[in-house]
Amino acid sequence: MTDRRSYPEDVFLPITNVCRNQCSYCGFRRDPAHPDANLMTASEVAKTLVAGRRAGCTEALFTFGEMPEEHPLFREWIGDIGYSSVIDYLIDLCEIAIEYGLLPHSNPGVMDPRDIRRLKPLNASMGLMAGSTRSPRL
Ligand code: SF4
Repeated sequence: MTDRRSYPEDVFLPITNVCRNQCSYCGFRRDPAHPDANLMTASEVAKTLVAGRRAGCTEALFTFGEMPEEHPLFREWIGDIGYSSVIDYLIDLCEIAIEYGLLPHSNPGVMDPRDIRRLKPLNASMGLMAGSTRSPRL
């Protein structure tokens, strides 16, 4: 009998569930005042990356709400850990993931071209929800 084993490829890292949008179908988003609203610390991210690597994962999937820093309370949280935006924070987290041997993928949502250029060298892919583009056509 063949010894077959399977393992997940991605470590899932929900950096924050705070989001500036309010898509009606979304079960992920929380207001910053909600008791379940979160912002993962860099040390929590590092621990998750280590555990994922040990479990055989090869990729790190960073997911979070779009531009959560539009909420004043979230701006305080991210300011307390030394950043002004979730993208600035993500850039450092992607570098940590690469150091641990995991290939970053990110779901930042809508970004300005400058942020896309900053993330491009650190990410194998970047995603967004089409419904969050605020396009009148959607
Ligand atoms: S943009 Fe994404 S995280 Fe934000 S409310 Fe919509 S589906 Fe939820």
